[in-house]
Amino acid sequence: MIPKYRLSCVGGGEVVEDISLLSCPNGHDSLLRTGYCSRKLHLAPHEGMYRYLAWLPVTTPLLPSGGAVTFTSDELSRELGLTRLSVSFSGYFPERGATLSTGSFKELEASPTMQRLQELGGKIPVIASAGNTGRAFAELSARCKRPVVIVIPEKAIPRLWTTEPAHDIFLVAVKGDYLDAIVLSNTLAGVPGCVPEGGAKNVARRDGMGTVMLDAAVTTGRIPDHYFQAVGSGTGAIAAWEAAMRLIRDGSYGDRLPQLHLAQNEPFTPMVSAWAARRREIIPAEDMPDAVESIGKVMSDVLTNRNPPYGIRGGLFDALLETQGCMYSVPNAAGAKAEKLIRETVGIDPDPAAAIATAALVEAVEKDIIGAGDHILLNLTGGGYERIREDFTLHAVIPAAVIRPDEPRDALVTRLREWIRHHGRKPDH
Ligand SMILES: *Cc1c(COP(=O)(O)O)cnc(C)c1O
Repeated sequence: MIPKYRLSCVGGGEVVEDISLLSCPNGHDSLLRTGYCSRKLHLAPHEGMYRYLAWLPVTTPLLPSGGAVTFTSDELSRELGLTRLSVSFSGYFPERGATLSTGSFKELEASPTMQRLQELGGKIPVIASAGNTGRAFAELSARCKRPVVIVIPEKAIPRLWTTEPAHDIFLVAVKGDYLDAIVLSNTLAGVPGCVPEGGAKNVARRDGMGTVMLDAAVTTGRIPDHYFQAVGSGTGAIAAWEAAMRLIRDGSYGDRLPQLHLAQNEPFTPMVSAWAARRREIIPAEDMPDAVESIGKVMSDVLTNRNPPYGIRGGLFDALLETQGCMYSVPNAAGAKAEKLIRETVGIDPDPAAAIATAALVEAVEKDIIGAGDHILLNLTGGGYERIREDFTLHAVIPAAVIRPDEPRDALVTRLREWIRHHGRKPDH
């Protein structure tokens, strides 16, 4: 059988034979990327994101899975004076066909990641998260009854809920911040039977998010001229760029990359700052001084990644370079106004990050950075939490352990090994 896709190193261009790898075996500081043998985007007869199975690195869909939906809002277009504005929504908005029940586009990453690991041999992913990612993986675990290990900062415990009771989650809370969670997750990912989920380096995650761009192109018949999104790690924006490259190669959706318009939330704006200087490196002292204090001030904390895949080959700097991208620094006040605008025009409560993206679009209109008749895609990356609370019973995920960052891990590792014995690789799969 001809394999569905190949992995190659963006920096070196060489094919990577072992498709389970997360980084280049030849040591290039680069993302790996999938190249699909099917040049054409043939639509599959599935609901949600698996309509785009042709360009997802799995052979079988993980169903049921929702997807991003693309629509137009006459009210929002009129309010902004734009004639060809499309909205992509990844969240819960049943009237529009949006059924991501954890409310964010992290579900688009979690679903193919879980499926791919299953197909590659059933290792258990270990995820460090500050909230939305952990919840997305928790939900997928509950729905598909597959094991996951999730490590979060203690203060994120209230964000970890599922819409079905979950029985296959090993949740660890750390009395510290997101960085402490990452450090602990690295230890746990070393336990036999587990693998690090990989973040932006995980191609399933990026290609899953790429379905936002695919759905927009299929719905509107073309690649947009401009793509607006709020970024934390930039993974979603890299994915949009990669999806657009595949669409160009397909030949049916146009031949120009969309210009990326990406927003961060003031005062924590490391990528805005580095890009303004057209610098590939983020210099902490210059681009994110007083990081901890700044992170405490933003309205959208999913946008506060301190170590984003920005400079790495194939990462966000390259995406901005190739698309002549723009970055926006959005203050909370502009975000709050944009949140109101989305509620009143689109009729849904946006995730704070989606409000930040909208505020960047407002700024681009006001400053004439885009034309009133340009084809624009606004990615509302999350929202609908109010409706989720009405329509579902939310089940809290209870931590197996709450530990201090400096505590010895031996006891925890022993418990995890024990848990894997019960939850790892079920005979029925
Ligand atoms: C994570 C997240 C983002 C940022 O996405 P990145 O891929 O990390 O840049 C934006 N919006 C929402 C709702 C998110 O959960």
